[in-house]
Amino acid sequence: MDSFPTSLGLNAVGQIADGYEHTERMPLLFVGHGNPMLAITANIFRQAWEDLGRHLPHPKAILCISAHWLTRGTFVTMADPPRTIHDFGGFPQELYDQQYPAPGAVDYARMTIAEVKGVPVHEDYKWGIDHGAWCVLKPMFPEARIPIFQLSLDDHQPAAYHYDLSRQLAFLRRRGVLIVCSGNVVHNLRMLQMNGGVYDWAIEFDTIVKERLEAHDDQALIDYQQFGQAARLAVPTNDHYLPLIYTLGLRDPQDTLTFFNDQFDLGSLSMRSVIFT
Ligand code: ZN
Repeated sequence: MDSFPTSLGLNAVGQIADGYEHTERMPLLFVGHGNPMLAITANIFRQAWEDLGRHLPHPKAILCISAHWLTRGTFVTMADPPRTIHDFGGFPQELYDQQYPAPGAVDYARMTIAEVKGVPVHEDYKWGIDHGAWCVLKPMFPEARIPIFQLSLDDHQPAAYHYDLSRQLAFLRRRGVLIVCSGNVVHNLRMLQMNGGVYDWAIEFDTIVKERLEAHDDQALIDYQQFGQAARLAVPTNDHYLPLIYTLGLRDPQDTLTFFNDQFDLGSLSMRSVIFT
């Protein structure tokens, strides 16, 4: 950490940003990641991630906003290369053996710190690539050559904070950065079921989110608690929902949205995913 040039001032960072090529707007993704075993077993969700990777334009870097990096304050990863984090318990060894040896994207992380005004974005040297990120990125980009950084979620902040912050990150899409917001619209681990059934409240909340996204009704999605019991059961804690909030501020009025993987896993995990192009 000591060798990192932390004295780099904002002007210098601005020069770096100016030196970066402006690109066509990159697609934006919200990906439902579900349970980690989906990353290493044959299933329709992973198949969709693999197919997507073959069709997406090649990004210069990837920013992942994952449900699994919760902090007080907002951070970006500066690690290069970032380590693969196995932040789960009780799974087969094969899952712990997974590595995603992509390089870090330090210049883009630094650019993010410089461009976001109003809220401080801090440097982090401890985090790496958590399973919310690598479980979907490894099937999508198996060669692990695209530089990657993550932005943390300050789970002490209200949804409006995340929405405002996300709007300030939208410039990255024109710098060739693919932003992957990884969570789940419906995520209740206490109510998983193995019999193939899906709860009514899960379908209800998932449908509300689909319709509000189509209607560009950001405020309703920010104020999701207004949807009562269905919202309380679908979003018992907001960690997996917050990445969706980021897509609201990152989407462009010109974007078309296309849903994929709009099915359920284990009865209480909505895998609904969206690509904005
Ligand atoms: Zn998760």
